[in-house]
Amino acid sequence: MTKVVIIGGGPGGYEAALVAAQLGADVTVVERDGIGGACVLTDCVPSKSLIATSTRTTYVRESSFLGINIPEVAEGEQAVEVDIRHVNGRIKRLARAQSEDTRARLAKEGVDVLVGEARLVDPHIVAVGDQRIRADVILLATGAHPRELPTAAPDGERILTWRHLYDLEELPERLIVVGSGVTGAEFASAYQALGSDVTLVSSRKLVMPTQDSDAAQVLEGVFARRGMTVLSQTRAESVVRTEDGVRVTLSDGRTVDGSHCLMTVGMIPNTDGLGLEEAGVGLGDGGFVEVDRVSRTTVPGVYAAGDCTGVNMLASVAAMQGRIAMWHALGEAVAPLQLSTVASTVFTHPELAAVGVSEDDIRSGRVDGRIVTLPLNTNPRAKMTQVKEGFVKLICRQHTGIVLGGVIVGPRASELILGVSIAVQQRLTVDDIAHTFSVYPSLSGSVTEAARSLMLASPE
Ligand SMILES: Cc1cc2nc3c(=O)[nH]c(=O)nc-3n(C[C@H](O)[C@H](O)[C@H](O)COP(=O)(O)OP(=O)(O)OC[C@H]3O[C@@H](n4cnc5c(N)ncnc54)[C@H](O)[C@@H]3O)c2cc1C
Repeated sequence: MTKVVIIGGGPGGYEAALVAAQLGADVTVVERDGIGGACVLTDCVPSKSLIATSTRTTYVRESSFLGINIPEVAEGEQAVEVDIRHVNGRIKRLARAQSEDTRARLAKEGVDVLVGEARLVDPHIVAVGDQRIRADVILLATGAHPRELPTAAPDGERILTWRHLYDLEELPERLIVVGSGVTGAEFASAYQALGSDVTLVSSRKLVMPTQDSDAAQVLEGVFARRGMTVLSQTRAESVVRTEDGVRVTLSDGRTVDGSHCLMTVGMIPNTDGLGLEEAGVGLGDGGFVEVDRVSRTTVPGVYAAGDCTGVNMLASVAAMQGRIAMWHALGEAVAPLQLSTVASTVFTHPELAAVGVSEDDIRSGRVDGRIVTLPLNTNPRAKMTQVKEGFVKLICRQHTGIVLGGVIVGPRASELILGVSIAVQQRLTVDDIAHTFSVYPSLSGSVTEAARSLMLASPE
């Protein structure tokens, strides 16, 4: 029986464990904090649970067009009040329950879970405290942690990483979010909706530089409309505590005062002290584990998955890398990881979802394709629900009409993108989507309409 040892119980680790157990391996997962990993306990699950509250508050605040009046308690101030202790308590309970569910599922499938900190002794031995476990196959799935700036060291009270947020007893009155990547934008959007006065510090011209620029522009407009201050093309040089809050000094010399500062300036892989270099496991830029598309490291028998590899740091990708590693290691047929089909979402309000090739790929000539963008405000369902911001963008190959990608900005874009994802994965054409029934009235009607426009616009 093949012995598999997995270090790290996040989605990269636990999904791999389920596959390995299903294939009859003897599997041990070593986890130091809790099954589910940072994904379940501090990052993805808690943030999306917080956003469940913030999204609802936005709907309530912006519902007067439906004839629902929220009385003003003072000039310009509505009676929507968020009980942040309740919110944070709910988030922590949900995270713990999901961790427990996953632990129970692993136990049911016969996976051994060992609590502790693991390191490689050599490519076939893992140490956990004094214990030595022999393994035929090892999977590294140790994740990553928030990057900290020495001049802005988090204290967990006023200068925070997102992992401190759920211990707050009060809603930050004036929150400065440093970093306008996906994480920064999500939290800025959420806390603005919860009632904080938010300033977002962005080093770029436009927020979310890795996303579709039309989408980022729509969202920056929404942020401004809701009263957020976005300071662009500047960096936080330092963050210090003041008597009653924090002061952020920017690279252009300006200072911004707030009650709290949330640092979202990237991730560092959890690869230090794991014995990787001694075992010969190759590390790339920033200490991420080097892997190929079937999750092999530079050492035979040692695989890696998830954030510790730095490959498109998403839970869905971590899980797929982990499964691929086990299929490969245990002799199953396996298709290498294909990043061009990964769907992702920025959970702002509205949401921004994308899959496949980008407009940039087309404009730069890297990919030969056609693009159509339909604003949502002409969609009948959008009109009924007063959705004025957002769009559907569809991209297909120039001559064949094969769908290559898409971007959706709108409510529940995370759900709407699935149709486009299926088309990209299955190499469907715009004709295939155009001939598919969408419900009338529905926002997904804009996806079929976009496909019809691309069909009509097809070159001779
Ligand atoms: C705020 C935020 C929101 C996010 N939202 C989303 C989202 O909506 N959708 C999405 O797809 N992705 C999201 N992500 C990304 C997602 O959380 C990560 O991609 C995912 O957690 C990666 O999974 P993993 O298994 O690689 O690592 P992790 O989930 O970090 O798990 C790794 C585990 O390994 C353990 N570990 C580390 N070293 C050792 C050791 N030596 N011994 C034993 N155990 C060890 C750690 O304690 C940890 O529990 C978000 C990230 C952040 C920061």
